[in-house]
Order: sequence, then structure tokens, then C-alpha cells
Amino acid sequence: MYKQQRYELVESLRLKGISDELLLQAMIKVEREKFVSAIMKPNAYKDIALPIGYGQTISQPFTIAIMTEALQIKKGDKVLEIGTGSGYQAALLYQMSAKVYSIERHIDVYNEVLKKFEKLGIRVHCKCGDGTLGWDQYSPFDKIIVTAGSPSVPESLKKQLAINGRMVIPVGNMSSQTLKVLTKTAPEEFEIEDIPQFAFVPLIGREGWKE
Ligand code: SAM
Repeated sequence: MYKQQRYELVESLRLKGISDELLLQAMIKVEREKFVSAIMKPNAYKDIALPIGYGQTISQPFTIAIMTEALQIKKGDKVLEIGTGSGYQAALLYQMSAKVYSIERHIDVYNEVLKKFEKLGIRVHCKCGDGTLGWDQYSPFDKIIVTAGSPSVPESLKKQLAINGRMVIPVGNMSSQTLKVLTKTAPEEFEIEDIPQFAFVPLIGREGWKE
């Protein structure tokens, strides 16, 4: 079911300039309808963000594609995701043969996504907590993706990124953010590219927005 819509979505992403084949093939395989509620399934292949409950969203496919492409994922990369949400982004990374570590702060969202991963056989290391502090125990990470908007780049995440590693994070105010793509060139040095105008739910935590 939805196979045709999935192909059409991927074709539309190609037309919008997404060219990472590992990612596009993963998007053909991962069934986005399994990451939204029954009532939202008919909208699963529209290029829009959708509510997943608890005031949270599954990000727009184009946004997910831009962020994932910017990471330049290679098979076997160790990837830290902040904001597990519906689990769709983590499922894509897993499908791309990355080793995925994902942190979600909202306990109900976390409990739901754990059940989903188990049911779908998706092996992702998950924890419930404040992702602004990263997951030091498993650092350094080759790639870090933050899926909620932050006032700045958390220092803990910068530290936990491997040399030559890449991080993508939306940074800005509560209503509009720029996607920052950081490449760590030395222990305290980063090259930074900006991709403007995105809107994410807030990253809430010690090194993010305060509750
Ligand atoms: N990656 C998700 C997906 O594929 O559905 C999209 C996630 S949604 C846009 C952002 C998520 O970040 C929400 O589930 C929210 O609860 C979570 N979040 C916000 N602040 C956080 C923090 N400090 N640590 C971990 N998760 C956080």
C-alpha cells in the first residue's frame, strides 16, 4: 500500500534537487504511513509536516531530505539524533545502514516510538532525556542531527562530534530558524554553512530553550 505515492514523493524530492541516492533509496523503502496516526495516513506522502500528538510533529519530507543529505551519511556511520519524535528520521538512517543513537525528551512520545521500533524490527539505541547534553557514553559521533529548533548550538553536542564529523541543527528564534551545517575541522574548530528559513518545534533543555 502507498507504494506509488512513495515513488512519487521521492521523484518530487529529486526535482527539488535532492540527489543522495542512499537517502532516496531509503525513502522508497521506509513506509512513512507507519509513523503517523491512522487518521493521518492518507496525508503521509504529502510533502508536509504532520502532527504526531503531544504538540509534536513528524517533519516535512523535504526538510528531512535536506538535513539528511547535508550530513553526507556513509554506511556504518555512528549517528546521534536529537528528537526521536515519530521515529521516521531514525528509521531512514537505520535503512541507510547507520548505527543510530536517538534521544527523545517527551516520555509519552518516547514510549510510543520504542513500541513502534520493536514492532517494525528497527534497531536504534534510544534514550529518554535531554538531548541538548548529547550522549557522552557513545561519543564521538560521525554525524549529529538535531530535529528541533535551538537558540544556539549546544556545546555538549559540539564536543561529542568526531573530527571531520558533520552536524545539522536548526538555530534561530521560536518561529524561524536557519539550518546550520557544521563540519568539525579540529577539536575546537568548525566550518559552518547556512541553509535559511525553516520552522521546527522548540528544542527544550539545559543547552536549548528553557521550559
Ligand atoms: N525526528 C522526528 C521524526 O522523524 O518524527 C521529528 C521530531 S519533532 C520535529 C522534534 C522532537 O524533538 C519532538 O519529539 C520533541 O519532543 C523533541 N525534543 C525537543 N527538545 C528535546 C531535547 N532537549 N532532547 C530530546 N528531544 C527533544
